[in-house]
Formats: sequence, structure tokens, C-alpha cells
Amino acid sequence: MPCFRYAIGVLRYKMSLKDNINLFQRELQEFRCRLIAVSKTKPPEMVQEAFDSGQRIFGENKAQEMMTKYDQLPKEIEWHMIGHLQTNKVKYIAPFVALIHSVDSLKLLEEINKQGKKIGRVIPCLLQVYIAQEETKFGFDAAELNTLLTNEVMSQFEFVKIQGLMGMASLTDDQEKIRSEFKGLKTLFDKIKSGPLPGNTEMKELSMGMSSDYKIALAEGSTLVRIGTAIFGERNVLR
Ligand SMILES: *Cc1c(COP(=O)(O)O)cnc(C)c1O
Repeated sequence: MPCFRYAIGVLRYKMSLKDNINLFQRELQEFRCRLIAVSKTKPPEMVQEAFDSGQRIFGENKAQEMMTKYDQLPKEIEWHMIGHLQTNKVKYIAPFVALIHSVDSLKLLEEINKQGKKIGRVIPCLLQVYIAQEETKFGFDAAELNTLLTNEVMSQFEFVKIQGLMGMASLTDDQEKIRSEFKGLKTLFDKIKSGPLPGNTEMKELSMGMSSDYKIALAEGSTLVRIGTAIFGERNVLR
């Protein structure tokens, strides 16, 4: 039996970029979830084509690549940073990034605040939560999140605005495992939302779901899905 990931690729690859985008936008509408078209490794021409099909939010995982595309493409585009961000790269994207999904340390948050302060811009962020079993995934666990959100230093960050959480499920074909990881993240999100929060923090966005697992993520309450392969086709470089 072909695996789930492969099946999606086969299902989608013959359709046009425009069809892919329109289908996703229609499907997400019922869930009040927004589509992030993950354009990493794809040329600016493809991003332009997606833009011309009505897509406005794009996701990248490298600061340099995002900056190059920002310079070349329409300024109406909302650029979302979804990959692990090194502190020394924050300055490149601080002036324009619409949302950083991948805040995974206090040190990074400090740097984002510092760069925001320099240019007088409050930078929207999500806190990345570690929900998968793989050891390679970045993010806070529930206890670390609690520590962060109750840390006095948090409320002193005037140039960051925390808008919610992001998580990535395990790379597996076990749907129930993926579902339970997303469910766990949603439960944590709701719990944090109901508690006392620092002034710069609100819980309104839950970024979860990619090409292979977005349907499960939608059912479990995602507000932002990050879709690359199912829109743009397979990447030549694996990242
Ligand atoms: C690449 C990437 C995606 C998109 O993955 P696809 O499987 O191509 O949809 C989503 N989220 C993150 C963090 C990524 O790096």
C-alpha cells in the first residue's frame, strides 16, 4: 500500500498551481483557517504565479531566501518565517516579516525584541511547541512554555507580540498518533489561553498541519496550515 504522503503527491501533481491554491482556499474556508503557501526552494516566478492566483501568505524557512524573495516580489505579500531562525539572521527579516512561527528559545525572543526596538516595529510571533517524538524537532515543551510565560522578562518585551502556538507532528503514517499530537497541542493552547497572560501575549493563532497531515490538523482546530508540496510539487532539496 502506498504511504499517505506519496498518495497526496500523486493526487495533486497533475493539477495547476492555480487549481491547487483555489482548492485549498475553498477547503480551508469552512474551518476559518488560513493557507500559508510554503515556497521554500521554489523560484520567485512560482511565487508570482501563486500570487496571481490570489494567494497572499507565503512561508519560508531561510532568512536569506525570504529576503531575496521579498525584494523581488509584490509588497502585498505576507511573509511568514516557519523554519528554525538563528539569532544572527533576525535583523534581515525584522523590517517586513508578518509572523515568525518558529520562536523556540528565550534568547531568540530577546533578539527579535531587540531588532524590533531598533526599527520601531512590533514583530508578531508564535511560540513553537515540541509535540513530536523525533529528537530533531525544535520547540518548547509544556513546562518550558509555562516557565517562559510566567517569566518577568517576558512582559518587558515591548517589540514582540505573541499571537499563539506552532507545532509539527511526528513524521509517520500513523494517523492516530498525529491526531493525538495535534489534540495535545490544541489542549495546551486552550489552557494557556484561559490562564493569565503577559500583556504582549494572546492566543489566537494555532499553526499546525502540512501537506501530509493538514486534514487532521483542520479537524483538531488549526487556524494556519503550512502547505508546500501539495501546492508547488516536490522539492528537489529536502528541507
Ligand atoms: C517545509 C515545511 C512545511 C511544508 O511542508 P510540506 O510537506 O511540503 O507541505 C511546513 N512547515 C514547516 C515548518 C516546514 O519547514
